[in-house]
Amino acid sequence: MAEWIQGTVSDNIHWTENLYSLKIDAEVDNFTAGQFTSLALDIDGERIARPYSFLSAPAQRPLEFFFYTATGGVLSNAMLGLKPGDHIWLKKKANGFFTLAEVPDSRDLWLFGTGTGIAPFFSILKTEEPWRRFEKVILVHGVRTAADLRYHELIGEIQQCRGDKFQFKAFVTREDVPGTYHGRIPAAIADGNLENACSTKLSIEDSQIMLCGNPDMVKDAVEILKERGFKKNRRRTPGQITVENYW
Ligand SMILES: Cc1cc2nc3c(=O)[nH]c(=O)nc-3n(C[C@H](O)[C@H](O)[C@H](O)COP(=O)(O)OP(=O)(O)OC[C@H]3O[C@@H](n4cnc5c(N)ncnc54)[C@H](O)[C@@H]3O)c2cc1C
Repeated sequence: MAEWIQGTVSDNIHWTENLYSLKIDAEVDNFTAGQFTSLALDIDGERIARPYSFLSAPAQRPLEFFFYTATGGVLSNAMLGLKPGDHIWLKKKANGFFTLAEVPDSRDLWLFGTGTGIAPFFSILKTEEPWRRFEKVILVHGVRTAADLRYHELIGEIQQCRGDKFQFKAFVTREDVPGTYHGRIPAAIADGNLENACSTKLSIEDSQIMLCGNPDMVKDAVEILKERGFKKNRRRTPGQITVENYW
């Protein structure tokens, strides 16, 4: 079992009542962008641990994570109250295969994330690998309300740095928000609106697709993609789809 180490919270940014980011100083081992670690608090004498994706790039400090407080969720609600200087447990060694090492080369890289499921993509986009390996990188964020769209500044910085190589599209399900698309990501794949919005075709020859977050979005999108002939990536039989479900 990987070793627990103690980290110190350096910031807790409350974006909305349910959405926040923690910055943590901790001596974790090197990790690969897209991986997760476990965070834990001792609550009523019991260590409560859950997996969380790194949002920060591997070389970046402090470490950064992006959270949604699940209704009645034990750990996500407890972490909401952490203040700078408070301690939190982290697994020293990261885990997971939701990394570009598992994604074959292609022309375009599509990244679909819902809610806090965008976190591992930011870690990946902060590294050089996607820009070296893909001609075009398209980040698609699905959320419920405009208030859930966060990290505008970081998205702006990536846009400025990467120019035409990078596109960002936001889909909002519960509100009409100027500058975003209304509805769910799977529906926009099915009716072609996503490809029209990006002026790029999803194709077996030219697209690699990573999906992260809400398992309903992941399942529905994968079903639609499979109907179009896309396949999941397996080490022995490479395809085009790589997924990470958050629950
Ligand atoms: C590999 C991996 C990486 C993850 N990375 C993140 C991350 O970076 N940020 C993050 O917020 N969560 C992430 N999660 C989910 C996280 O591990 C916890 O499940 C979540 O914080 C709820 O924990 P809890 O103790 O508060 O709630 P619990 O009492 O464990 O309740 C779990 C329930 O909360 C809901 N839920 C879980 N996660 C979310 C979520 N992100 N948004 C909305 N509802 C949710 C589901 O209905 C689930 O059944 C990740 C999960 C996995 C498997």
